[in-house]
Amino acid sequence: MDPALIAALRAAQARAAGPDAVPHCARCGAALMLCACEGVEHGRDVVFVLDGPALPEDASAEQRMERWLEHAQLHPTMMFDCRRFLDDMRARGILQAFSRLLPRLEAMAAHYCRDDTAGGYLNERGAAYSKEQLRGEVLLAVRRFARFDWCWLTTFDMALVNNCYQASDPAHFPLEDPDLKLGFDVLGCLQQVYKFVSDRLSYCFEPFEWQ
Ligand SMILES: [Zn+2]
Repeated sequence: MDPALIAALRAAQARAAGPDAVPHCARCGAALMLCACEGVEHGRDVVFVLDGPALPEDASAEQRMERWLEHAQLHPTMMFDCRRFLDDMRARGILQAFSRLLPRLEAMAAHYCRDDTAGGYLNERGAAYSKEQLRGEVLLAVRRFARFDWCWLTTFDMALVNNCYQASDPAHFPLEDPDLKLGFDVLGCLQQVYKFVSDRLSYCFEPFEWQ
């Protein structure tokens, strides 16, 4: 591994001051020291395996956000103040707003999947899905988003949530609505955040099944 990257990872770990974390390659799944992938940009496509227990199923929204922050702060290429972002969103009432937002996003998702134009919003990966698979993926994406399961939210999930917004009827889902607007702003920020760490559609912060 590139010595500059080792130094950057150590510095990021010291800043995060959270549990110990072992960096893995998001492409092949190998510990970064053993990864032989070529063409990976400095510090990108890294996934951290955190020491200590996984987040419990019944973790609160706060715990989920803090876990996401722990991950975000470990990335040496992250150029976004994720702690400040969370503080700003808390000040805008994200916890209450997102519990109200979930059923509305689910309704948006149902509309998006029913609509035959959905294919027009999908990229290559999504276009290969059957209607049933697409429905499952879109529902999972909006639920991960609104329930703060952001560590599991992939770049592809975010694109699907964005598609739901784009395809929604503004008469039913006006963007001036405070909860819908907050959701859209948060989505935009999260998409920016992930651009710093990976371009892969399957990328998320928690270790996932390697592809
Ligand atoms: Zn690799």
